[in-house]
Amino acid sequence: MAGTQRYLAALGSNMRLPGVGGPRHVLDEAIRRIEDSGARVEKRSRTISSRPIGPSSRTYANGAAQIASPLDPPRFLALLQGIERDLGRTRRGAPWRARTIDLDIVLWGGGTWHSDRLIIPHPRFRERLFVLSPSAEIAPHWRDPDSNLTTRQLFARLTRSHPLPRCAPWSGP
Ligand code: ATP
Ligand code: CA
Ligand code: CA
Repeated sequence: MAGTQRYLAALGSNMRLPGVGGPRHVLDEAIRRIEDSGARVEKRSRTISSRPIGPSSRTYANGAAQIASPLDPPRFLALLQGIERDLGRTRRGAPWRARTIDLDIVLWGGGTWHSDRLIIPHPRFRERLFVLSPSAEIAPHWRDPDSNLTTRQLFARLTRSHPLPRCAPWSGP
């Protein structure tokens, strides 16, 4: 798989990281590390805050980034997981617990990818305002190859069914 790959990634954090700061600073740090890896962050959304899913009580900072990288999808996921690990996330415990940083691949310029460890498009992104809102901001015309709808259309579909979106501009620490 030669050449540049293009990814739409979702970023989320709901914890402080000592030496880095609150969730929005953790997102900034993750972006810096993606750039340091040699990938190019072509676009980055604003950081939004959203209420947590499940039992975790802290507010999330969420965002999206369009990233160009020479890595194929499994290697790009490994890069993101390395950054998650370096920023203090472990893989123990319940999936919805508080975590320092979560980096997901939402879409990929190459279309779909299906393996045991990686599914693109991300299987749950169509139902998530905290993913679709920043995605539609930076990549409104990027199409979901499964539904053939753009991120903007997916976002509109979701906000029509939820007239009061639970996302707001970040106002936390
Ligand atoms: P969700 O997937 O619902 O957002 P999560 O992000 O909390 O939940 P994780 O514990 O971070 O889930 O990831 C579980 C596994 O999901 C990862 O180890 C990875 O192998 C797999 N995975 C499958 N598809 C993707 C994708 N598109 N992006 C990131 N991880 C993925
Ligand atoms: Ca996730
Ligand atoms: Ca994840």
